[in-house]
Amino acid sequence: MEDCLFCRIASGTIPARKAYEDDALVAFHDLNPQAPVHVLVIPRKHIATVNDLTAEDEATVGAMVRRAAAIARDLGHAEAGYRTVFNCNAAAGQTVFHIHLHLLAGRDLTWPPG
Ligand code: 5GP
Ligand code: ZN
Repeated sequence: MEDCLFCRIASGTIPARKAYEDDALVAFHDLNPQAPVHVLVIPRKHIATVNDLTAEDEATVGAMVRRAAAIARDLGHAEAGYRTVFNCNAAAGQTVFHIHLHLLAGRDLTWPPG
């Protein structure tokens, strides 16, 4: 989608500090990090919210979660721990309507989240 920020990051039209990319996924560092490590993992396919996922997206979502785990491991946070989060719609504070898995690591994270 031309007017989607994360489609534009995925295509390279808008720059981002990328942590990983392949045919299906892109991972990049958040512009406004909420932890020492704050990476967003996105599919190249435009999907607005988690509500819009279909059965054909299951492999992609699985790959997103496993990629977040691999990045956490590569950055040395697998053992200490980290958080992965999908925000969906207004009550959860979703601001970019192209699904993204937040990976947060490098500090103790409180629960419940705000
Ligand atoms: P949401 O609130 O939708 O779950 O998360 C959107 C995230 O995207 C936020 O953490 C925000 O800081 C990040 N973000 C918004 N615009 C940009 C951008 O242009 N570049 C990068 N790297 N991150 C962005
Ligand atoms: Zn998009």
